[in-house]
Amino acid sequence: MKLHEYQAKRVFAEAGIPTPDAELAETVDAAVDAAEAIGYPVAIKAQVQVGGRGKAGGIKLVDDADEAREAADEILGMDLKGYHVDRVLVEEAVDFTNELYVGVTMDRGEGKPVAMVSTRGGVNIEEVAAEDPDAIAREHVDPAFGMHPYQARKAVYDAGVDRTVANDVASVLTTLYDLWAAKDGADAEINPLMITADDEVVAADAVMNIDGDALFRQPDLAEMQEEAAEDDLEAKANDYGFDYVRLDGNVGIIGNGAGLVMTTLDLVDHYGGQPANFLDIGGGAKAERVTNALDMVFSDENVDAVVFNIFGGITRGDEVAQGINEALEAFDEIPKRVVVRLAGTNAEEGMEILNTDLVTVEKTLEDAVQRAVEYAEEDSQ
Ligand code: GDP
Ligand code: MN
Repeated sequence: MKLHEYQAKRVFAEAGIPTPDAELAETVDAAVDAAEAIGYPVAIKAQVQVGGRGKAGGIKLVDDADEAREAADEILGMDLKGYHVDRVLVEEAVDFTNELYVGVTMDRGEGKPVAMVSTRGGVNIEEVAAEDPDAIAREHVDPAFGMHPYQARKAVYDAGVDRTVANDVASVLTTLYDLWAAKDGADAEINPLMITADDEVVAADAVMNIDGDALFRQPDLAEMQEEAAEDDLEAKANDYGFDYVRLDGNVGIIGNGAGLVMTTLDLVDHYGGQPANFLDIGGGAKAERVTNALDMVFSDENVDAVVFNIFGGITRGDEVAQGINEALEAFDEIPKRVVVRLAGTNAEEGMEILNTDLVTVEKTLEDAVQRAVEYAEEDSQ
């Protein structure tokens, strides 16, 4: 579960991490009022859950009410990497001299949490990690003890952070780790952590992902999830009871079983396509579940073609085929081409039943994925 920037900032601020004065706005008028109240210059920031908003035009710095109005008008309602912007965070602009990165995540390789610091903040940290891994200082933490203050200081010094702010940055890192641990975090990140001209540290951005399976013991965050599920697709997935993750590509993927869906994602990538989502419809693929799954991928504007990958175990192939037929027959016009691969129990029977006027049937997973990647390329708008 991913919090919005404004929510993560609220959580960080409550824990004592300095954040800019900010107000959330849903209308242009409210954004201008907020800017006037905060005082210029302010940053107006699209509240959608993607990175790189700045480059995509979703963040604007403004110096007066006219500019604020213009920026809010432009950003509210814009389509940012496939996400509709319906809220902006209006925030006191930070006058900064440096941008750092600090983050905490689970290092699965080591089986331990890891705290990270880099002086290469303000840019995509995955790119930094790929180009120049040494530019990120890492400190593994024993969860039984938590992060010791000396570990935070070590990470900060290893990263080469300026001595004048080192203690403050170390304290932000310790707080971030404590929050991550207390809130069942998956990742927590501040990028950039800005250093101001007066040597203050300020969290100019905030990312907090929570382990969805732990939400039952995080009632405050669960409430934020309701508020955050502004992405229609994610809200839909919650309603339908699907495991769903939205991605950037244009090949919609539906399968049963997380491993099978992951394999399909990897193969789409292998054949030069880009997955639009992870969607696991789970066991049992009666018509209703299939209809719901198709509704999900069809309503994703980024999807240009769909691959359906079902392995029949308890779920029988003929039942799934029936479900796919029924679901697709309900459309006057099927919005995107669908490729189906069935395997396992009653797969042969299923493939015979499938209405080939509605779907393309492929025998192997490789063929099905390749076909869907082709369709997506041909039909991409
Ligand atoms: P992201 O690109 O979606 O991660 O959005 P960020 O909140 O990280 O902002 C991206 C970039 O916008 C930052 O690295 C800054 O360069 C710039 N920016 C964001 N907020 C401010 C601000 O308050 N003042 C100034 N001067 N720049 C800002
Ligand atoms: Mn950022």
